Amino acid sequence: MYSLSRKAEDYLEAILNVILEKGYARTKDVAGLLEVSPSSVVEMFRKLDAMHLVDYRKYEGVTLTEKGRAVAEVIKFRHDTLKRLFLLLGVSETVADGDACLMEHELSEESIRQIRLFVDFLDSGDAPADITGAFAAFCRAGTGRKGND
Ligand code: MN
Repeated sequence: MYSLSRKAEDYLEAILNVILEKGYARTKDVAGLLEVSPSSVVEMFRKLDAMHLVDYRKYEGVTLTEKGRAVAEVIKFRHDTLKRLFLLLGVSETVADGDACLMEHELSEESIRQIRLFVDFLDSGDAPADITGAFAAFCRAGTGRKGND
């Protein structure tokens, strides 16, 4: 695999998301998505360019290299998989997004693969009928509740 900082992974993922939406990633769009300043974005674009993960053009923005796109797709796959799990568990959208973004960098490939299979299973016709609905009812009833709330 590769070894990149969390921050670099977040940028590559954000660049891919902007490209998927707009076709091209401009500095201001990435800055908006990550809620950072345009100058921080330019600084990271230069670093990623030096690592051959993006092609950066001043005043235009970036495109992903083949290598950069491969990394971005892994991170996005992890994010989307974890977010689906949290949503199935009844976590709110904003928290699901934030927690997916934390965990996407840390989990093993094996755990991500099994979580993906689990969420695919829950969404498939092979899962017992309305298992997530039954779980939501269980949560509302407060049955078996433990922990710190
Ligand atoms: Mn993320």
